[in-house]
Amino acid sequence: MEIHILGSGGYHPSSKRHTLCSVIPQAGVILDAGTAFFRLGRFLDHKPWHVFLTHAHLDHVVGLTYYWGLAQQKEVGPVKIWADESTLKAIKDLLFSQPLFPKIPPYEFIPVSPNESVAIATERAGCESVSVLPVPLSHPGGALGYRFQIGDRSVAYITDTTLEALPVYGQVIQDVDLLIHEAFYPAGYEEMAQRTGHVTVAQAAEVARQVRAKRLVIVHLNPIVDCDGEKEQDEVARIFSNTVIATDNLVVNI
Ligand SMILES: [Zn+2]
Ligand SMILES: [Zn+2]
Repeated sequence: MEIHILGSGGYHPSSKRHTLCSVIPQAGVILDAGTAFFRLGRFLDHKPWHVFLTHAHLDHVVGLTYYWGLAQQKEVGPVKIWADESTLKAIKDLLFSQPLFPKIPPYEFIPVSPNESVAIATERAGCESVSVLPVPLSHPGGALGYRFQIGDRSVAYITDTTLEALPVYGQVIQDVDLLIHEAFYPAGYEEMAQRTGHVTVAQAAEVARQVRAKRLVIVHLNPIVDCDGEKEQDEVARIFSNTVIATDNLVVNI
């Protein structure tokens, strides 16, 4: 099974990165809907698609408005949007308010609550059901991380957050096969990261080490401050060797 990291950047797109959107095609699961959402065209089909949103900040949801362009290219199955109540309300009332966007796509909005697991029916051979556990993160306005159990494989998706929430989410993501974790700053920017609701690349690697993840993929990289230079690669390798700092369209085996 594969996950495609379609967009790996935070805040706004750059010449190098679109903002967050990943897809697990064999499970029909999509993680966040940043500007890379437009890249879903080659994956979508007539089966159900499940989009899990971490929070309502625009770099994670603006791609929901690209639906009509995607649906024009091919038949798209029912799209279910999973997120907490406040995120869904912000999307329906604000992102899809008439002056901002005139025609709301035929999404089904389904609320989730922290620490209450849900099972989704994928209607996909070899991967009929996925179990998902949302966990609260620490970020201005709140955010949810997710642990996915897909057959015998586990994936955790943790963005955006500071380390304040680690005692809680760290419990939930113990021993995952693949940890996808945000990092918005290079080492040395810890105070800035904390103030803006994020972590540094070194801190993300430290989380992976602490929770005994098998592999770490770092996403949500800063479009302004370089945090994927050689210095950072060396730093993360020293803390947790099985780390990749994501680039757009990276494919990772789960
Ligand atoms: Zn973000
Ligand atoms: Zn955010």
